[in-house]
Amino acid sequence: MTYVLAIDIGGTKLAAALVDEEGSVLRSGTRPTPRTDVMAALAALIAEVTEDGPPPQAVGIGCAGPLDLATGTVSPVNMPSWRGFPLREEVRKLTGLPTVLGGDAQCFALGEHWLGAGRDSASLLGIVVSTGIGGGLVIDGRPLPGPTGNAGHVGHMSIDPNGERCECGGRGCVERYSSGPNLARWALENGWSPAPGQSEQKADARALARDAAAGDPVAVAAFERGARALAGMIASTAAAVEITTVVIGGGVSAAGKVLFDPLERMLDDVAGLAFVRAVRVHQSTLGVHAALAGAARLAWQRTPTAH
Ligand SMILES: [Zn+2]
Repeated sequence: MTYVLAIDIGGTKLAAALVDEEGSVLRSGTRPTPRTDVMAALAALIAEVTEDGPPPQAVGIGCAGPLDLATGTVSPVNMPSWRGFPLREEVRKLTGLPTVLGGDAQCFALGEHWLGAGRDSASLLGIVVSTGIGGGLVIDGRPLPGPTGNAGHVGHMSIDPNGERCECGGRGCVERYSSGPNLARWALENGWSPAPGQSEQKADARALARDAAAGDPVAVAAFERGARALAGMIASTAAAVEITTVVIGGGVSAAGKVLFDPLERMLDDVAGLAFVRAVRVHQSTLGVHAALAGAARLAWQRTPTAH
């Protein structure tokens, strides 16, 4: 049995695993992402996961963006000590193995396509809805990274050119309507306050989802508004590249029916052409493991000698 080493790098957690060609995990480990010297923590994690085990054939890395695949560098927003950091080369030097880098949302999409809710789909859009909105495309079974690795940034597709200014500098981006903080922001502006519970309630998307499930009209309206924006983006993406399947993960997807039911209705309203109307939307089944699975898949796909 041969293995690849999969690595998932986020602002709060580093994860690594030895993964075989079927996607089974032989060993895995995680540790918190330190403020500084992230590379030392990553090296220690890799040593822990690979020690006395079968030697991996290649490495796949999913990392929080922005990144530049042309140079192999990363500048994750919530990891201030890495700016233009040559991650691909550093890991290649550390392990002596062929190393492939991808964005974390692209790895999410690839993981769900390989082993999750998008299994066997022809062409898939994976969307991660949490503090921000990320995405990745898998077209005809292959990831579509784009020249610098930034294809699939669907959170910053404009669904209203006359809409509000987004943090990215653009206008009317989906993220401005449908991310967790923006769902809560709109609800608060429109008179929502979290229903009192046993513990102190934060006015966040999780509380909003609970109140929407309980029938709070403003909370319901916030999810309908967010779902309509997502539906517009999904229909536009489907029209552009003919995706057949959408898989949605991230913290906000845990809202379940209060997000997915209006999304189905809005998509039915927004989509016109038959191949756009045929798109199927699913909730993530791999959850936090999707990006690591995708990183493994990236290593297997780009490393023909490893087979
Ligand atoms: Zn934007």
